[in-house]
Amino acid sequence: MSSRVLVVGERRAGAIADTSLEVLDTAHRLAGDGGVAGFVAGADGEPAAASFARFGVPLVYWARELSAEDSAAGRIAPTVAAVADSIGAEVVLAGGTTFGRDLVGYLAIRWNAAVATGVTDVQRDANGLHARRPIFGGRATETRRLEGWHVALALRPHAFPRPPEAPVPGRVETVAPVEPSAGWREAKCLGVEATPTGSGPSLGDATIVVSGGRGLQAPENFHLVEELAASLGAAVGASRAVTDAGWRPGSFQVGQTGKAVSPQLYIAVGISGAIQHIVGMVSSRVIVAINSDASAPIFKVADYGIVGDLFQIVPALTAEIRKVRGT
Ligand SMILES: Cc1cc2nc3c(=O)[nH]c(=O)nc-3n(C[C@H](O)[C@H](O)[C@H](O)COP(=O)(O)OP(=O)(O)OC[C@H]3O[C@@H](n4cnc5c(N)ncnc54)[C@H](O)[C@@H]3O)c2cc1C
Repeated sequence: MSSRVLVVGERRAGAIADTSLEVLDTAHRLAGDGGVAGFVAGADGEPAAASFARFGVPLVYWARELSAEDSAAGRIAPTVAAVADSIGAEVVLAGGTTFGRDLVGYLAIRWNAAVATGVTDVQRDANGLHARRPIFGGRATETRRLEGWHVALALRPHAFPRPPEAPVPGRVETVAPVEPSAGWREAKCLGVEATPTGSGPSLGDATIVVSGGRGLQAPENFHLVEELAASLGAAVGASRAVTDAGWRPGSFQVGQTGKAVSPQLYIAVGISGAIQHIVGMVSSRVIVAINSDASAPIFKVADYGIVGDLFQIVPALTAEIRKVRGT
């Protein structure tokens, strides 16, 4: 069974964001012989469109006249829907970022699509598409059957590997923006304020996260976590005990009332593993816990556990990683 799939590319520093590239394997699998097309918006979208071709997508629709400012999901959705219709696509895929989640919401209305967000697996059978995703903070997984002609999915960041490069000759077709219909309502972004984070990658984007907890005992010890993170090129996170105590800003907090992360590798240093922390990181691909208490709940979700004193283990680990990486 095959159908055409349209992948909406989000841009990051001129190129297609990794979260968009991660959906390509699924797009090719669902499309079969139907083929995959890309979509990008914005004045500087051409290099991004070209980067689709590096990953095996030969045809990209470029809505040049949608300015970056207008590139909010609600403004883009009518054009995405029109392109999807014009190429006979049955499925639109996007990375599960804030933008991607918003976009599929708008496509539910504008394109009459069945939607799912936070998707970690998609399968097709005779009854249609089935999307799996974690629910209740990762304590259960649901499978949804998506009915109807149109399906729009936002795939969970880092739940799928970035595909290897497979260059094909690329073609870019410029498309005119489609104006929203009368009565169209959208939520407008009034401004974006950067929140303080560590100097490495941001928590949401990082493929490795190293988080520290109260086991570090004092703010002046938190550098141990930051040095381990720097040695791995990782983002720095924290438990709420750390952010509530003011050791690090609230933007570092991972968990129920902080950020949900799902990196390839999550290292929890001196974190007990309270359920409110677990729900924010349990869908990480590999979890490593360092804790002196062998009965700490974090070990129940850890793939690898190191029972011992973090003040000995973390500096030794950082030194070893620096040695191996030659940094
Ligand atoms: C409504 C609500 C929402 C919440 N939201 C969040 C949230 O979003 N995120 C979050 O993290 N928490 C959240 N919490 C708080 C949560 O319940 C825990 O209190 C918090 O996660 C504990 O942080 P911790 O693991 O750093 O500290 P602790 O629970 O105090 O654990 C410290 C750990 O360090 C270990 N340790 C101590 N010394 C060493 C050493 N030398 N070497 C190695 N290990 C050592 C200890 O064995 C212990 O396991 C929330 C709570 C509530 C009620």
